[in-house]
Amino acid sequence: MNKPVSVDSSSKDFKEWLAAIRRDIHKHPETAFKEKRTSDLVAKLLTEWGLKVHRGFAKTGVVATLQGTGGEGRSIGLRADLDALFIEEKNTFSHKSCHQGVMHACGHDGHTAMLLGAIRVLVGNPNFAGKVHFIFQPAEESEGGGRVMIEEGLFEKFPCDAVYALHNAPGLPAGFFAIRPGPMMAAGDTWEVSFTGTGGHGAMPHNGTDPTMAAGSFVNSISSIVARNISSSDSAVLSIGYIQGGDYNSPNIIPANVVVRGTARSFTPENRDMLERRLGTLSTQIAAAHDCKAELTFTRRYPPLVNHKKETAIAAQAAVKVAGSENVEDEFDPIGGSEDFAFMLEATPGAYMLIGNGEGAFVHTDTYDFNDDILTIGTRFWVSLVETELNGKVL
Ligand SMILES: [Zn+2]
Ligand SMILES: [Zn+2]
Repeated sequence: MNKPVSVDSSSKDFKEWLAAIRRDIHKHPETAFKEKRTSDLVAKLLTEWGLKVHRGFAKTGVVATLQGTGGEGRSIGLRADLDALFIEEKNTFSHKSCHQGVMHACGHDGHTAMLLGAIRVLVGNPNFAGKVHFIFQPAEESEGGGRVMIEEGLFEKFPCDAVYALHNAPGLPAGFFAIRPGPMMAAGDTWEVSFTGTGGHGAMPHNGTDPTMAAGSFVNSISSIVARNISSSDSAVLSIGYIQGGDYNSPNIIPANVVVRGTARSFTPENRDMLERRLGTLSTQIAAAHDCKAELTFTRRYPPLVNHKKETAIAAQAAVKVAGSENVEDEFDPIGGSEDFAFMLEATPGAYMLIGNGEGAFVHTDTYDFNDDILTIGTRFWVSLVETELNGKVL
């Protein structure tokens, strides 16, 4: 059944095969760098289809290459993510997670199935010039598996002229495609400011310095960063998620240290730098005004996801071919979430496409499920992208 013969990607059999794979992965979710079973499943299929499989990038990453029959040409990379999240699934259907507290709540089961579907079609009819590298990455959610693959030499071993990813989007109509050139998803960074003074007796604050005053003033001031330092045509977010100082049982003691932690979201490298710089200036200067000290730790987690113009147009064109122009939005609004694929787009040109998952629960919620009805069109998008990029006719 899995031999490299020509496959009809619009047949009922193919759709059922895709859904069976997707549900099998959904039922056996695995989190960052532990995607052993999923990685084995992918590698087994690729091997059955005659591809040479490279394993081991970022522990569980799988990469394979398909050379087209049309001779030399460009090399492109198609990425799918393998990992699940730490969420207890509340769904009751038969493919519900069998791993307690772990769930495919972001649809990476569907992403993996769609790319496998595309590979199966392409292997049966590799009618294009150049090569396609299929990249199955671990740990998209929070551990930066894509970054680790790059650090371990992904693009040296598998050079790509362009790289693409496809992610489902609940709320967008099923099978609708959305993309935009330029910044599409935010940088997701965390920051921490530690305010230090002397603290002291709550009844005699004049004998010491009070970091709580500095922290309070700082908390009230950070909204000025987005309001006054970011252009009105851009957007950015600074939010505080944690404040800690003193001991609950000692309200009569002024603490010597107060810690404020938060998240920073921005859509361009320049604004990212601006948020970091202004958090540092405000915290240290406000602390100084209170005879205290402040130290900022700004941890850069995921960079902004910035789509490259030419590749965005190619991806949109590929989507129009399978879904019609009325089902493709190529000037979609940027999204405040973050995505590990941003590292790949820093390393090489490319684009990140969304595919509507239809109505239903949002990603990262305990009742979410990937919509099996979009598996076929997602698969056809990938094939169409290969045709568009590499001058082929596969479908
Ligand atoms: Zn996610
Ligand atoms: Zn995701």
